[in-house]
Amino acid sequence: MKKMKTYDDLAIGGAPPAFVEPLHVGRPNIGSKQTFLNYANEMLDRGWLTNNGPLVQEFEEKVKCYLDVKHCIAVCNGTVALEIAIRALELSGEVIVPSYTFIATAHALYWQGIKPVFADIDPVTHNLDPESVRSLITSRTTAIIGVHLWGRAAPISALEEIATEYGLQLMFDAAHAFGCSYNKQMIGNYGNAEVFSFHATKFFNTLEGGAVVTNDDQIAEKIRLMRNFGFAGYDNVVHPGTNGKMTEICAAMGLTNFNHMQEVLKENERCYNEYAYLLSEISAVRLCQYDLHEKNNFQYIVLEVAQSAQFNRDDLVTALHAENVLARKYFWPGCHQMLPYREKYPVADSALPVTCDVAERVIVLPAGPLIRRAQITVISDVIRILSRI
Ligand SMILES: *Cc1c(COP(=O)(O)O)cnc(C)c1O
Repeated sequence: MKKMKTYDDLAIGGAPPAFVEPLHVGRPNIGSKQTFLNYANEMLDRGWLTNNGPLVQEFEEKVKCYLDVKHCIAVCNGTVALEIAIRALELSGEVIVPSYTFIATAHALYWQGIKPVFADIDPVTHNLDPESVRSLITSRTTAIIGVHLWGRAAPISALEEIATEYGLQLMFDAAHAFGCSYNKQMIGNYGNAEVFSFHATKFFNTLEGGAVVTNDDQIAEKIRLMRNFGFAGYDNVVHPGTNGKMTEICAAMGLTNFNHMQEVLKENERCYNEYAYLLSEISAVRLCQYDLHEKNNFQYIVLEVAQSAQFNRDDLVTALHAENVLARKYFWPGCHQMLPYREKYPVADSALPVTCDVAERVIVLPAGPLIRRAQITVISDVIRILSRI
């Protein structure tokens, strides 16, 4: 690793890359290997690999306690969690979602014959703009799905108000927001149901996995049935359903990571503070802030390249990649620009001006427990040198 001073030190100027090993976004957080292997050993000795085994049950209990929520139904991934929750809430017709999110939010609707209607976002929070949501409500609208993007809560109160006013269901895609709070209450307690992803790249992982959490007994019961083909007991199917079960090995990873979560949190926060300090004087970029009055998981280091900057976001991606810093564009170009939505429901970009602008300027930097201050310094230097050219 080298200390950079001028353009000549940048790999895009011909110098060797700053890092021999690439720095990735979304490196998995893995707790104690021994703890995981002990769980795996017990599982193999028991011969109970899936079908609501003891590790899944213990995992669900832990999630419930941690979030202080009444029901947690663990499933095989976040997308299936969304699909099952959407069915359990009996959504149909049109559902309003942000376009600035991971494609699964829209796909989970479309996959079930529901039209995702894309609303615009707030330029500062990157979360749904309640006024845009309101303007898109039609007689066919049945629900709003908010996304707590980057782990920062969607405008929950405003969306609750709209949902109540129009008699809509309200669901949240909380894939980014495990361990985060809103008004001091843990995310997971809002709307009719909330959905987490425990994919390997998320703050908290179960290899692949997800969960639906809710405080509604009836919805919880329905989701439990749907997760397991509608089985209410041996030989007794009482509901349509699918196979959304979480396996024991995934629950083992979840239980392992529970032991490790506070440590990861501390490291994520350290990383965020170091970036915040080193980037604060570079006016070409703005680091997305977390609300320090709330609980945050600090999983995403999100930069916006200023409109006034001498370089654009793609230049920055190129410069960082040349140094083996594998920073990523996120949610570019927006769900509404991906197939099938671009062709099926053409939305003029002019309908989503903030989404289009933000998607052009956001870059997500490598973060997490493995990223050291010296590396953050080099990454900041690349940005600083680029902004002086
Ligand atoms: C990761 C993610 C999902 C999908 O979760 P999987 O567990 O990968 O299926 C859904 N929505 C958002 C916003 C995500 O980031």
